[in-house]
Amino acid sequence: MSLEKSDWEVIVIGGGPAGSTTARYIAEGGREVLVIDRRDPIGSPLQCGELVPTNDEMRRLCPNVPDIDDLLQTPAHAISRETTEMFIVPPSGKPLKYPFDGYMLDRVAHDEALVELAKEKGATYLTDSRVTTVEGNTVHLKDGRRLTGKIIVGAGGHNDPLRKAYWNESSLKIPIKFVLMDGDYGDAVELHFGSMAPGGYAWMFPKGNGANIGLGVQKKFCKEKNLNQLTDDFIQRYGGEVTFTGAGSLPMSGTIRTFVKGNYVLVGDAAGMVLPSNGAGITIAMVGGRIAGQVIVEHLNDGTPLNQYERRWKQQMGRVMKNSKRAFKLGSALLRMPDWFINLVFNRFTKPFVWRSITCRNLFFIF
Ligand SMILES: Cc1cc2nc3c(=O)[nH]c(=O)nc-3n(C[C@H](O)[C@H](O)[C@H](O)COP(=O)(O)OP(=O)(O)OC[C@H]3O[C@@H](n4cnc5c(N)ncnc54)[C@H](O)[C@@H]3O)c2cc1C
Repeated sequence: MSLEKSDWEVIVIGGGPAGSTTARYIAEGGREVLVIDRRDPIGSPLQCGELVPTNDEMRRLCPNVPDIDDLLQTPAHAISRETTEMFIVPPSGKPLKYPFDGYMLDRVAHDEALVELAKEKGATYLTDSRVTTVEGNTVHLKDGRRLTGKIIVGAGGHNDPLRKAYWNESSLKIPIKFVLMDGDYGDAVELHFGSMAPGGYAWMFPKGNGANIGLGVQKKFCKEKNLNQLTDDFIQRYGGEVTFTGAGSLPMSGTIRTFVKGNYVLVGDAAGMVLPSNGAGITIAMVGGRIAGQVIVEHLNDGTPLNQYERRWKQQMGRVMKNSKRAFKLGSALLRMPDWFINLVFNRFTKPFVWRSITCRNLFFIF
């Protein structure tokens, strides 16, 4: 569809995993959709730890999400390495070891593939174009252009302009710094908890070549060192050569109360679709994007209310998100404690509970 066109059925702000997945399903349903993104190319520069569960692991983690293989079609060239083990590491350095089937992505290639998939289905993209405001059905771009959409989707991440203007609900945001480092770091992905990352966690995720290493904190817990110093300390443990440095911010309060207001719809980080107990947001944004896209198509076809999107989200992800929020609250209380206490808590008896918290299951095996 032509970029000269100014009047669209659906405009999606942001072409990350949430926006591109929403657009893919809208286009697949035969409706017209324009995705506007301030970046060009979308997905660059990298802002990610790049770890996602494999499709089989996703089925175990999110058992109510249907048709995972249709949703998550990660191409081989976007997978840097597969992993089968996760180490949860307390300050003592003695890890609790768990089986975990994950993909270490080349995240930039991953997001580009999502854009290509949506385009193949018929979505149109306008890149290098920042949305400044949305008024009624009109989307204003920084360069002065105005475009209209019957439905407007905010998929612009944690600073989404639609969310900022029309949702009066704040989310806890965790600042993150990370690096890519050369070297060989074994097979297991590592999550570290304790004073090295106050209120958050640090990670070392081995890639096909080198590793992605980073750290996120809750600022109010950082008394002695700031994020930069903490990150420097943590990456020094690994000793390789840093080839890339990045930073970002993650919403960690879980989903907000409503995703729909009139003809405005939020999806992905903009709606808080990150599991706070482990920081997973890529596949979760895509789960939200598929539901949003499908409901928007039904709405345009037969008037299905847009808030069906919230109902279906709750059916598919409600319990996982609730468990994850609860685990994050418990974890935040625990992570205020001194390292010696955290070392005591992470032991072979608590091992199953630690895993159930991190993977968003009910702590007491009722799930
Ligand atoms: C440092 C870091 C590490 C992470 N590690 C992991 C991980 O290992 N695994 C995992 O699953 N998740 C991880 N996450 C979370 C994950 O990256 C997000 O949850 C996911 O990207 C959400 O997708 P999204 O499409 O909602 O938002 P984004 O991926 O943020 O996409 C938003 C898009 O909107 C565009 N945009 C924003 N504002 C505007 C505007 N005004 N106008 C036009 N376009 C706009 C942006 O350019 C961007 O392309 C990490 C996040 C960070 C910050």
